Amino acid sequence: MTKRVLVTGAAGFLGSHLTDRLLAEGCSVVGVDNLCTGDAANLAHLAGDPRFQFQVRDICAGFDPGPVDYVFNLASPASPPEYLRLGIETLRVGSAGVENTLQIAARYGARYLHASTSECYGDPLQHPQSETYWGNVNPVGPRSVYDEAKRFGEAMVMAYHRSRGVNTSLARIFNTYGPRLQPGDGRVISNFMMQALRGEPLTIYGDGRQTRSFCYVDDLIEGIMRLSRSEEHLPVNLGNPEEFTILECAQAVLEVTASKSELRYVDLPVDDPTRRRPDIAKARTLLGWEPRVGLREGLKRSLEFFRSRAG
Ligand code: UDP
Repeated sequence: MTKRVLVTGAAGFLGSHLTDRLLAEGCSVVGVDNLCTGDAANLAHLAGDPRFQFQVRDICAGFDPGPVDYVFNLASPASPPEYLRLGIETLRVGSAGVENTLQIAARYGARYLHASTSECYGDPLQHPQSETYWGNVNPVGPRSVYDEAKRFGEAMVMAYHRSRGVNTSLARIFNTYGPRLQPGDGRVISNFMMQALRGEPLTIYGDGRQTRSFCYVDDLIEGIMRLSRSEEHLPVNLGNPEEFTILECAQAVLEVTASKSELRYVDLPVDDPTRRRPDIAKARTLLGWEPRVGLREGLKRSLEFFRSRAG
């Protein structure tokens, strides 16, 4: 029997890749997005696919997609400049939006997976971060609109699991990149790739010694698929444990793009986490999952996409 799946945030970076993967596995997909940061162009190649239906809607208002077997809740602004611009919308989609989609899962007995984030760990005092770490989040800083929305979302998901018996999962997603990462959304990989390809200076925030761990999108989607088939209800980190300073990341981008761009140092955003690296022991044991694509290889695979946008 064909599974019918609801994907919220379907026009986003991860949502569109997940939709492709679900269709490739034979599912039919109802994709929902209000396009506040998503881009319908990410789904343009699916026009005419009878197993895919796209609805422009805001999940903060209740809706009924009809019977579904799975709900993947990926709807939220996710890049720092975008969630700072859309702070209230981010808090709403992380609260009312999460609850509305949980109610759909409860109504139809659907398996539910929520896209949470490494931002739950804030500026972490434990390194690397394992799922048992409770985090170090500023509840009133500029990033709180995202961090606290995602933390509240996790609490809501656990409450629907514990009180209503919904079969839920929580993916704590670390920095991910690849084709369809919005060139203008201000994230480090999209900024550096576009700047390198245009011969503009790469903007290093602060001294560039802060670290991140970058996961290629195909690896991340594989992790999400495996988690959705597991029976794990507590959070699971999904990300690549290879850790780079932002300066090392800039170097990798310059190499892969063969660019001669210079570096330009600018101010570090408020509460920018100093380091971030997932402990993925739980995902390895539970899901038999680990990333396969290293940073330089993933950047090479993303080159054509960013080149097509750098024009
Ligand atoms: N960053 C940077 N230059 C840029 C964009 C980002 O140095 O043009 C830094 C940013 O300060 C942060 C890291 O790169 O330390 C990752 O930023 P991003 O916005 O991609 O995501 P975050 O992990 O902060 O959510």
